[in-house]
Amino acid sequence: MDQLPNMRLTTQRQIILEELAKVTSHPTANDLYDIVRQRLPRIGLGTVYRNLELMAESGLILKLEVGGTQKRFDATINPHYHIRCTQCGKVDDIDIPMQHHINEIAAAACDYQIFGHHIEFSGICDDCIQMKKEH
Ligand SMILES: [Zn+2]
Ligand SMILES: [Zn+2]
Repeated sequence: MDQLPNMRLTTQRQIILEELAKVTSHPTANDLYDIVRQRLPRIGLGTVYRNLELMAESGLILKLEVGGTQKRFDATINPHYHIRCTQCGKVDDIDIPMQHHINEIAAAACDYQIFGHHIEFSGICDDCIQMKKEH
């Protein structure tokens, strides 16, 4: 019996959003599926994926355009920069001010009206550095 499909969808979406907000790991849809399943054992990966896409489209969450094969999601929607570990692929926030002057430099170099920019730093995370030392 599924008398309140919209209600159900909203609840699922809220739980996905809640779980995404709890982590700082910028999880993929698969990662979130594993987390959300603890609370919604019958939810499908497709449902998690669709809800993430919908929430990203409506600006509730960010879909990260970072290197790597899988899309990642972020509940922190204010503009911020990311760093990706080239060894393990993990993505973290970097807490530095937005470099708004880059927009002006870019605007001077092309005919576009610039809205913003994305910067992805790359490096090796501390876990991977430690791992290298141990081996
Ligand atoms: Zn790493
Ligand atoms: Zn982030």
